Amino acid sequence: MRNQGLGPWMLRRAERSGQHLAVIDGERRLTWRELAEQTAREATALHEEGVGPGDRVAFLGENSVEFLRTIFAVWLVGGVLVPLNTRLAAPEVAFQLDDSGARLLIHDQTLEALAAESCPTGAVSRRAVGQPGKSRATDAAPGLAERLEGLEPWHEDVAVAEDETAMILYTSGTTGRPKGARLTHRNLTWNCINALVDSDVRGDDVCLMISPMFHVASLGMGVLPAVLKGAALVVEARFDPGRALELIERERVTSLAGVPTTFQMLMEHDDWERRDLSSLRRMSCGGSAIPHTVLDAYESRGLAFTMNYGMTEASPGVTMSPPERTREKAGSSGLPHFFTEVRIVDPLGEDLGPGETGEILVSGPQVISDYWNRPDGGSAFRDGWFHTGDVGHRDEDGFLYVTDRLKDMFVSGGENVYPAEVESTLIEHPAVSSVAVVGVPDDRWGDVPHAYIVAAEGRSISEQEVMSFLDGRLARYKIPRHVTLVEDLPRTASGKLRKSQLVGRRPSE
Ligand code: ATP
Ligand code: MG
Repeated sequence: MRNQGLGPWMLRRAERSGQHLAVIDGERRLTWRELAEQTAREATALHEEGVGPGDRVAFLGENSVEFLRTIFAVWLVGGVLVPLNTRLAAPEVAFQLDDSGARLLIHDQTLEALAAESCPTGAVSRRAVGQPGKSRATDAAPGLAERLEGLEPWHEDVAVAEDETAMILYTSGTTGRPKGARLTHRNLTWNCINALVDSDVRGDDVCLMISPMFHVASLGMGVLPAVLKGAALVVEARFDPGRALELIERERVTSLAGVPTTFQMLMEHDDWERRDLSSLRRMSCGGSAIPHTVLDAYESRGLAFTMNYGMTEASPGVTMSPPERTREKAGSSGLPHFFTEVRIVDPLGEDLGPGETGEILVSGPQVISDYWNRPDGGSAFRDGWFHTGDVGHRDEDGFLYVTDRLKDMFVSGGENVYPAEVESTLIEHPAVSSVAVVGVPDDRWGDVPHAYIVAAEGRSISEQEVMSFLDGRLARYKIPRHVTLVEDLPRTASGKLRKSQLVGRRPSE
């Protein structure tokens, strides 16, 4: 058997477009041939370090050439990649290293302290890439550049079946402890097929990677389709809106992907008007609903969005809205990908029709079939369907609207309350900077909504003002009975609200 996994993609791309630009990383510009050669030498390095088929190799770093070559090098030697979120705290990194059983941790030199603190016992060996004291990863880590130079590129064809694990990627931990999603080569391949069927990724695309590649969205919808088509990647270690706008103009970027906040920060930057954005032709937004104001600002510059809904367990693509329908279907995340099915079911598992709200179930060749090391996670995978824990409905045309998470929903006086709806209404109040709504126990109603609000700078908002603002905008049972002003809200490393830390708190707490 040959390597049927994703590793050889890099080499095949180099055979076809060796002279073409593959990646821009700060001052560095590499062709596909150069990137593939680095990848092949890195594979030899991994092999010499004892990494073989099935071994887990963790990577802790920002977007960089080093990250790109490590991804494919691990796959070339038949290993399993464990991408780690650089915003995690040491005990969280330690958990993921331990749970995945990683034997090697490759990390940015700049994250030396976090890496050292995360593997104190020496059970995991580690190696740094990058330059001490510099914010960008470069190849100047002591001895490494020379060592790679001296290595033969990897030529062996390691047997890898498409159903073998390519990555163990931990979910964001929004609803509990992060789960290691076991993504196979096949899962990731089919996600690419879906992405390529439903969006027009081209070989002459220039994709600006401002979201971290340790998230499945950037890897599955950005890096892998780009390698398949030979599009160039502009990798940014950190998102800086001013620099991103400059890069779009200078490198004639055609494709940009991010979460709503990313796009909001770009349009609020001083250089927004001044920069030439005419090269952009694909704008993808996902993770949560996009505000109207953002759609308007981009539309006024001739830019339309594709909306995406997905999750780590689906490698990640589930639905996507065609840009020409995003405005008409505002608030929707689009239609299921070509090779994907979506169902909406009630608590008994019965299928629901258009307009009816229930749990979202997903099935498709890109959806994983189990979690790593979590036999108890099996209940989410039943009869060929992944139970997402998300709540939503479809309209008559089949467009999906993701309302909230099942875990966040609560019942007040017999009515379902979806906190996300209350939050998106409250955020429109100018004195509200961010808000989390949770249900708190109430003797009469079962649960009642409680809003935790971070006020906008220099502003304040009273319980009374909240209630009168929502009066007429929302049904009475959805209006928060209690309001607490807070300095900030508990969030995950990827910036999502961690409501479990608020739920059940009595108003006085
Ligand atoms: P955990 O599973 O550990 O609780 P998580 O679900 O936040 O964390 P991810 O896999 O990173 O981990 O995120 C996927 C989730 O993000 C989806 O299940 C959904 O709740 C939310 N999401 C993604 N895209 C959208 C979207 N377009 N609209 C609304 N919500 C979205
Ligand atoms: Mg989840």
